[in-house]
Amino acid sequence: MSHAVIIKKAVKKYGNFTALNGVDLEIRPGEFFTLLGPSGCGKTTLLRMIAGFNSVDGGEICFDDKVINNLEAHKRDIGMVFQNYAIFPHLTVAENVAYGLKAKKCPKDQIPGKVEEALELVQIGQLKDRKPNELSGGQQQRVALARAFVIEPGVLLMDEPLSNLDAKLRVQMRTEITKLHQRLQTTFIYVTHDQTEAMTMGTRIVVMKDGFIQQVDTPQNLYDYPANLFVGSFIGSPQMNFFDAKLVKRADGVWAEFGGNAIKVPDAKVRKLVDESYIGKEVVMGIRPENIHDEERFLSVADNNLVEAKVEVVELMGSETYLYLKVDGKESNVVARVDPRSTSRTGDTVKVAFETNRLHFFDKDTELSILNR
Ligand code: ATP
Repeated sequence: MSHAVIIKKAVKKYGNFTALNGVDLEIRPGEFFTLLGPSGCGKTTLLRMIAGFNSVDGGEICFDDKVINNLEAHKRDIGMVFQNYAIFPHLTVAENVAYGLKAKKCPKDQIPGKVEEALELVQIGQLKDRKPNELSGGQQQRVALARAFVIEPGVLLMDEPLSNLDAKLRVQMRTEITKLHQRLQTTFIYVTHDQTEAMTMGTRIVVMKDGFIQQVDTPQNLYDYPANLFVGSFIGSPQMNFFDAKLVKRADGVWAEFGGNAIKVPDAKVRKLVDESYIGKEVVMGIRPENIHDEERFLSVADNNLVEAKVEVVELMGSETYLYLKVDGKESNVVARVDPRSTSRTGDTVKVAFETNRLHFFDKDTELSILNR
């Protein structure tokens, strides 16, 4: 049976350093939940507290309605997969997978069938008699996965399980882990610093920074409604462009002014401001590269949303092109992600259209979003 994992005001200290600052989370039974954040934000610390490998210095960790702060790791209903596989080198693939079943006192006659089924599920049935040193990294990670879920844990914990694999295998394993979750329907808690992994796999994601939760949401909501500047910049690649802008009331509505540029903020967006007093103030304006366009179909219907830019670098990616633009009012380059048939060339001065209904605004001091959903 899959568990809900409820974390209440969890604190972790290493000496004087506080790695987790009162984290509150409710992970639903059967959910694929991802802990995401840059190196050092406390993801592994939190996962290890759920696993029982780290002590809890404050707050509570619960499985369903049971507090498990002091329950030993091996008594928790969990399976765990690590970045470095951590499978036994002297055991065969099948023996590695059988190991946990034996430890859990699974009836002997049931073990071979369960092992075979688990290996089939991760598509390495034919390798069952090999030793780990006769396997590729991807195959070893499949053994580790099979070993973790064969015991049918109520919670499956994974700590960056794909980061030792090459890029192509990572993409393949991503979809396989998603399928595995659909099959097993158990609670998955997955740690990664890779936002693509988090966005593609998780049903919900918590974004963390410096031991604090920044936002808990679905991948789409994190992308559409980042709660603060950090989440806005961390989710999305290339990252969101930010401008120091001023919201100014004019006769025909509210405009965002930056450098010598001004674009009109759609009325619907203005109505979403959490506080009208931001009109007349300096704010941080954000726009994603995919919402800046040089294509004719956007320029031809431009409506007070054009910005002049000098093209400094053009990066052809095949399926899309990145333009690195010099725009008045911003020191670093503005990145636009445009159609690969773009005719913009290095050195050109072009007009680009900002998709203004996709603008984001943040408070300059608190860095919190100032838009309601
Ligand atoms: P990464 O992606 O690099 O693994 P993370 O988000 O998983 O990072 P943690 O490993 O949880 O981060 O570490 C959080 C913070 O706690 C870091 O600043 C780290 O240096 C510190 N830390 C972790 N383990 C210990 C320890 N045993 N002793 C002292 N400090 C520690």
